[in-house]
Amino acid sequence: MSALVTFDRASLGYGRRAVLSNLSFEIREGDFLGLVGPNGSGKTTILRAILGALQPITGSVTRADGLRFGYVPQRDQVDYGYPLSVVDVVLMGRYDRIGLGKRPSSADRELACDALEHVGIRDLADRPLANLSGGQKQRTLIARALVGDPNVLILDEPTNGMDLVSMTQILGLVRELHERDGLTVLMVSHALNEVANYVERIALVADEKVHIGSTDEIMSEETLSNMYGIPVDVSSFNGLKIVVARRGRDTRRS
Ligand code: ADP
Repeated sequence: MSALVTFDRASLGYGRRAVLSNLSFEIREGDFLGLVGPNGSGKTTILRAILGALQPITGSVTRADGLRFGYVPQRDQVDYGYPLSVVDVVLMGRYDRIGLGKRPSSADRELACDALEHVGIRDLADRPLANLSGGQKQRTLIARALVGDPNVLILDEPTNGMDLVSMTQILGLVRELHERDGLTVLMVSHALNEVANYVERIALVADEKVHIGSTDEIMSEETLSNMYGIPVDVSSFNGLKIVVARRGRDTRRS
């Protein structure tokens, strides 16, 4: 598998302060990678470096030629005040081809509807975005990313604040896009348990570093206990892996 994005001894940060140091890892063609870590650990900083919006302080971050990112922002970062329909929002994903200020052609509109079909909500095309449920909004934002024909789909906390059913459906959709369409996917999440059973590799951000490996490698008690600095149990339930912090005697007494 060829490397699409390569971090080579990259240190990332703001001003002269490094948030993450000496990162060396690759996003490969065909990857289904979860970028996981607690809030404030540096996931967004890594995303900015991947997208080229943040230059490393030292080392390098390189991208393969012709790379097109489809970026799905966090749902709560989107302004729902505008009276835009679902299909209008999806068309935004083609503005770089259409040209700002120009009217989208009927072919553009058809592509937007195809993208909506792909994520299972073509019937909602003319509904106002503001009226949709969390899961439907997320599908709209995924369709907007897909309509630009990306080779890497990046989702930022796609299941944040969702109930169990919507979360399962969205993660299922993302897995389908990877498996059925062969899309390279990078999913950012603060919740290891939510994404670990969906992705194929995990990049865990902890301690100013990134530990990357297959889900089995990262989801081991030894690896996670070392990374988190507390004893951690990994249990299996119906073939799914679940991480829990081990409760010590001290915790129970208090
Ligand atoms: P995450 O996405 O995992 O929540 P971030 O990448 O947003 O983490 O933040 C990592 C660290 O970098 C935090 O300590 C945060 O305060 C700092 N940081 C993030 N953005 C900026 C910025 N624009 N200027 C200075 N520090 C920042």
